[in-house]
Amino acid sequence: MVTVIVGAQWGDEGKGKIVDALAPEAHIVARYQGGANAGHTVVCEGKTIVLHLIPSGILHEHVQCVIGNGVVLDPVALRQEIAMLEDMGVRVRGRLFISHKAHVIMPYHKLLDHAREQQQGIGTTGRGIGPAYIDKYSRVGIRVVDLLDRRVLEEKLRHNLAEKNALLAKVYGAEQLDVEAIVAEYLEFDRFIDEFVTDTTTLLHTALREGKRILAEGAQGALLDVDHGTYPFVTSSNPTSGGACTGLGIPPTAVDRIIGLAKAYSTRVGNGPFPTELHGSEGELLRQLGSEYGATTGRPRRCGWLDLVALRYSVMVNGITELALTKLDVLGMLPRIKVCTRYRLGGTVLKSFPVDVPTLDNVEPEYIELESWQCPLEDVTSFDALPRQAQALVELVEEHCGVPVRLLSTGAAREQIIWRQ
Ligand code: GDP
Repeated sequence: MVTVIVGAQWGDEGKGKIVDALAPEAHIVARYQGGANAGHTVVCEGKTIVLHLIPSGILHEHVQCVIGNGVVLDPVALRQEIAMLEDMGVRVRGRLFISHKAHVIMPYHKLLDHAREQQQGIGTTGRGIGPAYIDKYSRVGIRVVDLLDRRVLEEKLRHNLAEKNALLAKVYGAEQLDVEAIVAEYLEFDRFIDEFVTDTTTLLHTALREGKRILAEGAQGALLDVDHGTYPFVTSSNPTSGGACTGLGIPPTAVDRIIGLAKAYSTRVGNGPFPTELHGSEGELLRQLGSEYGATTGRPRRCGWLDLVALRYSVMVNGITELALTKLDVLGMLPRIKVCTRYRLGGTVLKSFPVDVPTLDNVEPEYIELESWQCPLEDVTSFDALPRQAQALVELVEEHCGVPVRLLSTGAAREQIIWRQ
Protein backbone atom coordinates (compact mmCIF):
# COMPACT_ATOMS: atom_id res chain seq x y z
CA MET A 1 0.00 0.00 0.00
CA VAL A 2 1.38 3.35 -0.99
CA THR A 3 0.23 6.71 0.31
CA VAL A 4 1.56 9.70 -1.59
CA ILE A 5 2.07 12.98 0.26
CA VAL A 6 2.01 15.83 -2.15
CA GLY A 7 2.29 19.59 -1.67
CA ALA A 8 -0.92 20.97 -3.18
CA GLN A 9 0.25 24.59 -3.50
CA TRP A 10 3.65 26.18 -4.16
CA GLY A 11 5.55 24.14 -1.58
CA ASP A 12 6.29 24.75 2.11
CA GLU A 13 2.85 23.47 3.11
CA GLY A 14 4.31 21.61 6.09
CA LYS A 15 5.13 18.27 4.46
CA GLY A 16 7.89 17.62 7.01
CA LYS A 17 5.45 17.77 9.89
CA ILE A 18 2.69 15.74 8.23
CA VAL A 19 5.08 13.00 7.07
CA ASP A 20 6.43 12.91 10.61
CA ALA A 21 2.86 12.58 11.91
CA LEU A 22 2.01 9.74 9.50
CA ALA A 23 5.34 7.92 9.85
CA PRO A 24 4.35 5.85 12.93
CA GLU A 25 1.88 3.98 10.65
CA ALA A 26 4.44 3.44 7.86
CA HIS A 27 7.23 0.91 7.32
CA ILE A 28 9.04 2.96 4.69
CA VAL A 29 9.14 6.65 3.82
CA ALA A 30 10.47 7.31 0.33
CA ARG A 31 11.37 10.64 -1.25
CA TYR A 32 10.62 10.72 -4.99
CA GLN A 33 11.87 13.94 -6.58
CA GLY A 34 13.73 17.22 -6.12
CA GLY A 35 16.97 17.74 -4.31
CA ALA A 36 18.42 19.63 -1.40
CA ASN A 37 16.48 22.71 -2.52
CA ALA A 38 13.59 21.49 -0.40
CA GLY A 39 13.55 22.07 3.33
CA HIS A 40 11.25 19.98 5.45
CA THR A 41 10.87 21.18 9.01
CA VAL A 42 9.92 19.01 11.95
CA VAL A 43 9.50 20.34 15.49
CA CYS A 44 10.01 17.50 17.91
CA GLU A 45 10.39 17.79 21.68
CA GLY A 46 11.00 21.53 21.34
CA LYS A 47 13.82 21.01 18.82
CA THR A 48 13.53 22.23 15.23
CA ILE A 49 15.03 19.84 12.68
CA VAL A 50 15.31 20.84 9.03
CA LEU A 51 15.84 18.02 6.54
CA HIS A 52 16.65 18.66 2.89
CA LEU A 53 17.15 15.21 1.38
CA ILE A 54 16.45 12.50 3.91
CA PRO A 55 12.72 11.90 4.56
CA SER A 56 11.52 13.03 7.97
CA GLY A 57 10.53 9.40 8.65
CA ILE A 58 14.17 8.96 9.74
CA LEU A 59 13.17 10.43 13.10
CA HIS A 60 11.09 7.29 13.79
CA GLU A 61 13.38 4.41 14.71
CA HIS A 62 11.24 1.65 13.11
CA VAL A 63 11.00 3.39 9.69
CA GLN A 64 13.25 2.70 6.71
CA CYS A 65 13.95 5.67 4.45
CA VAL A 66 14.51 5.68 0.72
CA ILE A 67 15.98 8.35 -1.55
CA GLY A 68 14.52 7.34 -4.89
CA ASN A 69 15.80 7.48 -8.46
CA GLY A 70 13.82 10.67 -9.11
CA VAL A 71 15.88 12.65 -6.61
CA VAL A 72 19.06 14.50 -7.55
CA LEU A 73 21.65 13.88 -4.88
CA ASP A 74 23.94 16.57 -3.51
CA PRO A 75 26.93 14.83 -1.89
CA VAL A 76 27.78 17.76 0.36
CA ALA A 77 24.21 18.20 1.59
CA LEU A 78 23.76 14.45 2.13
CA ARG A 79 26.88 14.16 4.24
CA GLN A 80 25.95 17.18 6.31
CA GLU A 81 22.49 15.83 6.90
CA ILE A 82 23.69 12.38 7.93
CA ALA A 83 26.25 13.97 10.27
CA MET A 84 23.58 16.24 11.80
CA LEU A 85 21.23 13.31 12.42
CA GLU A 86 23.98 11.14 13.88
CA ASP A 87 25.03 13.98 16.17
CA MET A 88 21.45 14.03 17.43
CA GLY A 89 21.68 10.30 18.15
CA VAL A 90 19.50 9.24 15.21
CA ARG A 91 20.57 5.92 13.67
CA VAL A 92 20.89 6.42 9.93
CA ARG A 93 23.10 3.48 8.89
CA GLY A 94 21.06 0.41 8.03
CA ARG A 95 17.92 2.55 7.72
CA LEU A 96 18.68 4.82 4.76
CA PHE A 97 18.68 3.41 1.23
CA ILE A 98 19.76 5.43 -1.81
CA SER A 99 18.88 4.47 -5.37
CA HIS A 100 21.67 3.46 -7.76
CA LYS A 101 19.72 5.34 -10.38
CA ALA A 102 19.58 8.72 -8.64
CA HIS A 103 21.53 11.41 -10.45
CA VAL A 104 24.38 13.15 -8.67
CA ILE A 105 24.82 16.91 -8.48
CA MET A 106 28.28 17.88 -9.69
CA PRO A 107 30.18 21.12 -8.93
CA TYR A 108 29.48 22.44 -12.44
CA HIS A 109 25.73 22.12 -11.86
CA LYS A 110 25.95 24.61 -9.01
CA LEU A 111 28.10 27.04 -11.02
CA LEU A 112 25.74 26.83 -13.98
CA ASP A 113 22.71 27.27 -11.73
CA HIS A 114 24.08 30.53 -10.32
CA ALA A 115 25.16 31.79 -13.73
CA ARG A 116 21.79 31.00 -15.37
CA GLU A 117 19.74 32.33 -12.48
CA GLN A 118 21.35 35.74 -12.96
CA GLN A 119 20.04 35.75 -16.52
CA GLN A 120 16.66 34.03 -16.08
CA GLY A 121 15.47 35.21 -12.66
CA ILE A 122 13.29 32.17 -11.87
CA GLY A 123 14.23 32.45 -8.20
CA THR A 124 15.94 29.06 -7.87
CA THR A 125 17.87 28.12 -4.75
CA GLY A 126 21.14 27.87 -6.72
CA ARG A 127 21.82 24.31 -5.54
CA GLY A 128 22.45 22.88 -8.99
CA ILE A 129 19.12 21.04 -9.15
CA GLY A 130 17.93 22.42 -12.51
CA PRO A 131 21.24 21.79 -14.35
CA ALA A 132 21.41 18.25 -12.88
CA TYR A 133 17.94 17.50 -14.30
CA ILE A 134 18.97 19.06 -17.63
CA ASP A 135 21.86 16.59 -17.80
CA LYS A 136 19.56 13.73 -16.83
CA TYR A 137 17.24 14.45 -19.73
CA SER A 138 20.17 15.19 -22.07
CA ARG A 139 21.39 11.69 -21.15
CA VAL A 140 24.79 12.87 -19.97
CA GLY A 141 24.04 12.83 -16.25
CA ILE A 142 26.21 11.01 -13.74
CA ARG A 143 24.28 8.55 -11.60
CA VAL A 144 25.15 7.04 -8.25
CA VAL A 145 25.96 3.76 -10.02
CA ASP A 146 28.59 5.56 -12.16
CA LEU A 147 30.57 6.47 -9.06
CA LEU A 148 31.28 2.77 -8.48
CA ASP A 149 33.64 2.57 -11.44
CA ARG A 150 36.52 5.03 -11.61
CA ARG A 151 36.97 4.52 -15.36
CA VAL A 152 33.31 5.23 -16.15
CA LEU A 153 33.28 8.23 -13.84
CA GLU A 154 36.42 9.73 -15.43
CA GLU A 155 35.14 9.17 -18.93
CA LYS A 156 31.75 10.74 -18.24
CA LEU A 157 33.32 13.63 -16.38
CA ARG A 158 35.79 14.40 -19.18
CA HIS A 159 32.95 14.40 -21.68
CA ASN A 160 30.82 16.66 -19.49
CA LEU A 161 33.59 19.05 -18.52
CA ALA A 162 34.64 19.62 -22.13
CA GLU A 163 31.19 21.11 -22.69
CA LYS A 164 30.59 22.68 -19.29
CA ASN A 165 33.97 24.40 -19.04
CA ALA A 166 33.46 25.96 -22.45
CA LEU A 167 29.97 27.09 -21.43
CA LEU A 168 31.14 28.44 -18.09
CA ALA A 169 34.03 30.36 -19.65
CA LYS A 170 32.57 31.55 -22.93
CA VAL A 171 28.91 32.17 -22.07
CA TYR A 172 28.98 33.02 -18.40
CA GLY A 173 32.57 34.19 -17.84
CA ALA A 174 32.74 31.87 -14.82
CA GLU A 175 35.56 29.74 -13.41
CA GLN A 176 36.58 26.43 -15.05
CA LEU A 177 36.81 23.11 -13.28
CA ASP A 178 39.48 20.44 -13.11
CA VAL A 179 38.61 16.79 -13.91
CA GLU A 180 41.15 15.22 -11.54
CA ALA A 181 39.96 17.20 -8.55
CA ILE A 182 36.33 16.23 -9.17
CA VAL A 183 37.18 12.56 -9.75
CA ALA A 184 39.08 12.46 -6.45
CA GLU A 185 36.25 14.22 -4.59
CA TYR A 186 33.51 11.95 -5.99
CA LEU A 187 35.46 8.71 -5.54
CA GLU A 188 35.84 9.65 -1.94
CA PHE A 189 32.10 10.39 -1.80
CA ASP A 190 31.45 6.97 -3.30
CA ARG A 191 33.34 5.32 -0.46
CA PHE A 192 31.12 7.27 1.94
CA ILE A 193 27.76 6.45 0.39
CA ASP A 194 28.56 2.90 -0.66
CA GLU A 195 26.85 1.36 2.37
CA PHE A 196 23.61 3.26 1.66
CA VAL A 197 23.32 2.47 -2.05
CA THR A 198 20.94 -0.25 -3.12
CA ASP A 199 18.35 -1.24 -5.72
CA THR A 200 15.56 0.74 -4.09
CA THR A 201 12.99 -0.25 -6.73
CA THR A 202 13.37 -3.92 -5.76
CA LEU A 203 13.43 -2.99 -2.09
CA LEU A 204 10.10 -1.15 -2.45
CA HIS A 205 8.49 -3.94 -4.46
CA THR A 206 9.59 -6.55 -1.93
CA ALA A 207 8.03 -4.39 0.79
CA LEU A 208 4.81 -4.10 -1.23
CA ARG A 209 4.64 -7.87 -1.66
CA GLU A 210 5.05 -8.25 2.10
CA GLY A 211 2.07 -5.93 2.64
CA LYS A 212 4.17 -3.12 4.09
CA ARG A 213 2.99 0.47 4.11
CA ILE A 214 4.99 2.99 2.12
CA LEU A 215 4.71 6.76 2.38
CA ALA A 216 5.94 8.47 -0.78
CA GLU A 217 7.07 11.98 0.03
CA GLY A 218 7.26 14.74 -2.55
CA ALA A 219 9.14 17.99 -2.28
CA GLN A 220 7.98 21.46 -3.38
CA GLY A 221 4.36 21.56 -4.60
CA ALA A 222 2.06 20.75 -7.50
CA LEU A 223 1.93 24.33 -8.75
CA LEU A 224 5.71 24.18 -9.16
CA ASP A 225 5.56 20.99 -11.22
CA VAL A 226 7.57 21.30 -14.43
CA ASP A 227 4.60 20.01 -16.49
CA HIS A 228 1.55 21.18 -14.55
CA GLY A 229 2.81 24.22 -12.64
CA THR A 230 3.16 27.87 -13.55
CA TYR A 231 5.86 27.27 -16.15
CA PRO A 232 8.55 28.63 -16.45
CA PHE A 233 8.38 29.63 -12.78
CA VAL A 234 8.56 26.02 -11.63
CA THR A 235 10.95 23.45 -10.29
CA SER A 236 12.74 21.01 -12.61
CA SER A 237 10.90 17.85 -11.60
CA ASN A 238 7.41 16.43 -11.02
CA PRO A 239 6.19 16.98 -7.46
CA THR A 240 2.69 15.90 -8.59
CA SER A 241 1.59 12.44 -7.53
CA GLY A 242 2.58 10.81 -10.85
CA GLY A 243 6.18 11.73 -9.96
CA ALA A 244 5.97 9.23 -7.10
CA CYS A 245 5.62 6.40 -9.60
CA THR A 246 8.42 7.45 -11.94
CA GLY A 247 10.62 8.70 -9.11
CA LEU A 248 10.46 5.44 -7.17
CA GLY A 249 9.67 2.81 -9.79
CA ILE A 250 6.29 1.88 -8.31
CA PRO A 251 3.21 1.40 -10.49
CA PRO A 252 0.15 3.69 -10.25
CA THR A 253 -1.90 0.64 -9.25
CA ALA A 254 0.09 0.37 -6.01
CA VAL A 255 -1.05 3.83 -4.86
CA ASP A 256 -4.25 3.81 -2.85
CA ARG A 257 -4.18 7.16 -1.04
CA ILE A 258 -3.03 10.60 -2.12
CA ILE A 259 -2.91 13.20 0.60
CA GLY A 260 -2.67 16.78 -0.59
CA LEU A 261 -1.21 19.29 1.80
CA ALA A 262 -2.34 22.88 1.77
CA LYS A 263 -1.81 25.78 4.09
CA ALA A 264 -4.92 27.64 5.22
CA TYR A 265 -3.44 30.53 3.22
CA SER A 266 -0.93 30.63 0.35
CA THR A 267 2.78 31.28 0.08
CA ARG A 268 5.24 31.21 -2.75
CA VAL A 269 9.03 31.53 -2.82
CA GLY A 270 10.72 32.89 -5.90
CA ASN A 271 9.13 34.59 -8.86
CA GLY A 272 6.01 33.76 -10.84
CA PRO A 273 2.27 34.39 -10.82
CA PHE A 274 0.43 34.47 -7.51
CA PRO A 275 -3.16 35.73 -7.96
CA THR A 276 -4.07 36.00 -4.26
CA GLU A 277 -0.80 37.62 -3.13
CA LEU A 278 -1.06 40.25 -0.41
CA HIS A 279 1.40 43.04 -1.04
CA GLY A 280 0.88 45.45 1.83
CA SER A 281 0.84 45.24 5.58
CA GLU A 282 -1.54 42.24 5.62
CA GLY A 283 1.00 40.18 3.66
CA GLU A 284 3.76 41.27 6.03
CA LEU A 285 1.60 40.37 9.05
CA LEU A 286 0.96 36.89 7.63
CA ARG A 287 4.70 36.47 6.97
CA GLN A 288 5.54 37.42 10.55
CA LEU A 289 2.77 35.33 12.16
CA GLY A 290 3.53 32.28 10.03
CA SER A 291 7.36 32.71 10.13
CA GLU A 292 7.24 32.51 6.36
CA TYR A 293 10.94 32.44 5.55
CA GLY A 294 12.46 29.69 3.39
CA ALA A 295 13.80 26.67 5.31
CA THR A 296 16.66 26.31 2.79
CA THR A 297 17.53 29.89 1.87
CA GLY A 298 15.92 32.02 4.58
CA ARG A 299 14.26 34.08 1.84
CA PRO A 300 11.02 35.82 2.83
CA ARG A 301 8.08 33.96 1.30
CA ARG A 302 5.41 35.85 -0.60
CA CYS A 303 2.12 35.49 1.29
CA GLY A 304 -1.54 35.65 0.26
CA TRP A 305 -5.04 34.28 0.77
CA LEU A 306 -6.04 30.66 0.29
CA ASP A 307 -6.77 30.10 -3.40
CA LEU A 308 -9.43 27.44 -3.94
CA VAL A 309 -9.23 27.71 -7.73
CA ALA A 310 -5.58 26.67 -7.59
CA LEU A 311 -6.29 24.05 -4.92
CA ARG A 312 -9.14 22.53 -6.92
CA TYR A 313 -6.80 22.26 -9.91
CA SER A 314 -4.21 20.59 -7.70
CA VAL A 315 -6.77 18.10 -6.37
CA MET A 316 -7.64 17.26 -9.97
CA VAL A 317 -4.11 16.90 -11.35
CA ASN A 318 -2.86 14.87 -8.40
CA GLY A 319 -5.97 12.75 -7.85
CA ILE A 320 -5.92 13.87 -4.23
CA THR A 321 -8.16 11.63 -2.14
CA GLU A 322 -7.99 13.74 1.02
CA LEU A 323 -6.55 17.05 2.13
CA ALA A 324 -4.50 18.10 5.13
CA LEU A 325 -4.88 21.75 6.06
CA THR A 326 -1.96 23.27 7.94
CA LYS A 327 -1.30 26.51 9.80
CA LEU A 328 -4.91 27.04 10.85
CA ASP A 329 -3.53 28.65 14.01
CA VAL A 330 -1.70 31.28 11.95
CA LEU A 331 -4.65 32.22 9.77
CA GLY A 332 -6.89 32.58 12.81
CA MET A 333 -4.66 35.29 14.24
CA LEU A 334 -5.59 37.68 11.43
CA PRO A 335 -8.40 40.18 12.05
CA ARG A 336 -10.18 39.12 8.84
CA ILE A 337 -9.95 36.15 6.50
CA LYS A 338 -10.54 35.96 2.80
CA VAL A 339 -10.66 32.90 0.55
CA CYS A 340 -10.56 33.03 -3.24
CA THR A 341 -13.26 30.88 -4.83
CA ARG A 342 -13.25 32.05 -8.47
CA TYR A 343 -11.11 33.87 -11.01
CA ARG A 344 -12.52 36.40 -13.43
CA LEU A 345 -10.83 37.65 -16.54
CA GLY A 346 -12.33 40.72 -18.22
CA GLY A 347 -15.62 40.10 -16.45
CA THR A 348 -15.85 36.41 -17.39
CA VAL A 349 -15.59 33.70 -14.75
CA LEU A 350 -12.87 31.22 -15.74
CA LYS A 351 -13.88 27.57 -15.82
CA SER A 352 -10.42 26.17 -15.17
CA PHE A 353 -7.00 27.10 -13.86
CA PRO A 354 -5.19 29.11 -16.58
CA VAL A 355 -2.43 27.34 -18.46
CA ASP A 356 -0.20 30.35 -19.05
CA VAL A 357 1.54 32.96 -16.94
CA PRO A 358 0.16 36.12 -18.64
CA THR A 359 -3.44 34.96 -17.99
CA LEU A 360 -2.68 34.05 -14.38
CA ASP A 361 -1.01 37.42 -13.90
CA ASN A 362 -4.17 39.16 -15.03
CA VAL A 363 -6.96 37.20 -13.37
CA GLU A 364 -9.08 39.00 -10.78
CA PRO A 365 -9.64 36.71 -7.80
CA GLU A 366 -13.12 36.75 -6.27
CA TYR A 367 -13.18 36.33 -2.53
CA ILE A 368 -15.51 35.14 0.17
CA GLU A 369 -14.86 36.86 3.47
CA LEU A 370 -15.00 34.72 6.59
CA GLU A 371 -15.00 35.67 10.23
CA SER A 372 -11.74 35.13 12.02
CA TRP A 373 -11.57 33.15 15.25
CA GLN A 374 -8.64 35.01 16.80
CA CYS A 375 -8.02 32.55 19.59
CA PRO A 376 -5.22 30.06 20.16
CA LEU A 377 -5.83 26.51 18.95
CA GLU A 378 -3.05 24.70 20.77
CA ASP A 379 -5.38 22.88 23.18
CA VAL A 380 -7.93 21.93 20.55
CA THR A 381 -7.81 18.20 19.86
CA SER A 382 -10.99 17.59 17.86
CA PHE A 383 -12.83 19.13 14.95
CA ASP A 384 -15.92 19.64 17.10
CA ALA A 385 -13.91 21.68 19.57
CA LEU A 386 -12.60 24.05 16.89
CA PRO A 387 -14.09 27.54 16.76
CA ARG A 388 -17.15 27.62 14.50
CA GLN A 389 -15.39 29.99 12.09
CA ALA A 390 -12.49 27.56 11.60
CA GLN A 391 -14.98 24.73 10.96
CA ALA A 392 -16.65 26.95 8.35
CA LEU A 393 -13.33 27.40 6.55
CA VAL A 394 -12.74 23.63 6.47
CA GLU A 395 -16.26 23.06 5.13
CA LEU A 396 -15.74 25.71 2.43
CA VAL A 397 -12.54 23.94 1.31
CA GLU A 398 -14.34 20.60 1.15
CA GLU A 399 -17.24 22.06 -0.78
CA HIS A 400 -15.00 23.66 -3.41
CA CYS A 401 -12.47 20.85 -3.73
CA GLY A 402 -14.81 17.87 -3.51
CA VAL A 403 -12.58 15.87 -1.17
CA PRO A 404 -12.55 15.57 2.61
CA VAL A 405 -10.12 17.47 4.82
CA ARG A 406 -8.92 14.67 7.08
CA LEU A 407 -6.04 16.31 8.88
CA LEU A 408 -5.82 19.72 10.46
CA SER A 409 -2.60 21.16 11.77
CA THR A 410 -2.88 23.75 14.50
CA GLY A 411 0.78 24.43 15.35
CA ALA A 412 4.33 23.47 14.45
CA ALA A 413 4.70 20.81 17.17
CA ARG A 414 4.17 17.10 16.47
CA GLU A 415 1.14 16.78 18.69
CA GLN A 416 -0.68 19.87 17.36
CA ILE A 417 -2.75 17.92 14.92
CA ILE A 418 -6.43 17.02 14.58
CA TRP A 419 -7.44 13.80 12.79
CA ARG A 420 -10.91 13.56 11.37
CA GLN A 421 -12.72 10.35 10.55
P1 GDP B 1 7.60 21.66 3.92
O1 GDP B 1 8.74 21.93 3.00
O2 GDP B 1 6.32 21.45 3.19
O3 GDP B 1 7.90 20.60 4.92
O4 GDP B 1 7.36 22.98 4.72
P2 GDP B 1 8.43 23.83 5.55
O5 GDP B 1 9.08 22.98 6.54
O6 GDP B 1 9.30 24.60 4.66
O7 GDP B 1 7.47 24.91 6.19
C1 GDP B 1 6.49 24.62 7.07
C2 GDP B 1 6.79 25.39 8.36
O8 GDP B 1 5.59 25.53 9.07
C3 GDP B 1 7.74 24.69 9.26
O9 GDP B 1 8.50 25.63 9.97
C4 GDP B 1 6.83 23.91 10.22
O10 GDP B 1 7.40 23.68 11.48
C5 GDP B 1 5.69 24.87 10.34
N1 GDP B 1 4.37 24.28 10.51
C6 GDP B 1 3.86 23.16 9.93
N2 GDP B 1 2.56 23.03 10.29
C7 GDP B 1 2.26 24.09 11.06
C8 GDP B 1 1.06 24.55 11.69
O11 GDP B 1 0.00 23.95 11.60
N3 GDP B 1 1.15 25.72 12.39
C9 GDP B 1 2.29 26.43 12.50
N4 GDP B 1 2.28 27.57 13.21
N5 GDP B 1 3.42 26.04 11.93
C10 GDP B 1 3.41 24.90 11.21
